[in-house]
Amino acid sequence: MSIVVVGSVALDSVETPFGKVENALGGSATYFSVSASFFTKNIKLVAVVGEDFPLEHIEFLNSKGINLEGLQRVKGKTFYWSGRYGASLSGAETLTTELNVFETFSPKVPESYKDTKYVFLANINPELQIEVMRQIKNAELVVCDTMNLWIAQRRDSLMEMIKHIDVLIINDSEARQLTDEQKVDKAAWKILDYGPKRVIVKKGEHGAISVTRSSYFASPAYPLKSMIDPTGAGDTFAGGFMGYLASTGDTSEQNIRKAVVYGTVMASFNVEDFSLNRQRTLIKEDIESRFNEMRMITGF
Ligand code: AMP
Repeated sequence: MSIVVVGSVALDSVETPFGKVENALGGSATYFSVSASFFTKNIKLVAVVGEDFPLEHIEFLNSKGINLEGLQRVKGKTFYWSGRYGASLSGAETLTTELNVFETFSPKVPESYKDTKYVFLANINPELQIEVMRQIKNAELVVCDTMNLWIAQRRDSLMEMIKHIDVLIINDSEARQLTDEQKVDKAAWKILDYGPKRVIVKKGEHGAISVTRSSYFASPAYPLKSMIDPTGAGDTFAGGFMGYLASTGDTSEQNIRKAVVYGTVMASFNVEDFSLNRQRTLIKEDIESRFNEMRMITGF
């Protein structure tokens, strides 16, 4: 199965207690695509970059087999985000968001993408997510992510989009912000009333829950000895989750539980270094080995 993804392709400057990077490769669609590419070679990207986007990043995405037909390169500057993390590494403080070429971006889904069954609407303005969703008529699984900025500034569009999707992946603080519920479980159940069939809430070091009207699954986080930069953990989680589902074509409850654990494993690797650096050296055996450890951790 292939996956169409729309979201940001970015240059990020990030500071954590362990160091910093400037203008490093980032973006929600980038983290997602590279993570998913470990499971399926059929990732079709829809995004835009500016003239300043380094060619080496394009080559890196190409080397991962990601289809870049829907990646436009236009006049102007690439989306830029900068953020800082405190000692607990929980939650970024956004310092700058420059939409740049995304301000006037109108996504055009290439013909060759249009019969894709799996769609991931990575974090970006929900109006762009809706435009992409409209252009893919026969999708069987639409999964979506968002963030605090859009919940605050584009709530109506976001609520409109959420009505039509299958799975919302969101973190705990965003779930609270979206629902005004302080308890994460209650927030997840409330989100189901907004439309999606399933809600996955990522709770950082406390793992993730996957909730429908008739099921509840909880995965712990992988116990990490070293964490350097949490940026992109959410998108990398989604990449592992959807990449695994696409590689199996099976969306049963049992397989979705495995996909949540693959998402958890992928996110655990990504936070071990800045930008996508850990994913550059990662191999499939590392992923399987950590997945098996997760089986041991949760077995009783
Ligand atoms: P995460 O840490 O998983 O929430 O995602 C981090 C990535 O999201 C960074 O690489 C940023 O470039 C990207 N990002 C930050 N703010 C936005 C935004 N408003 N819209 C789209 N992408 C964003």
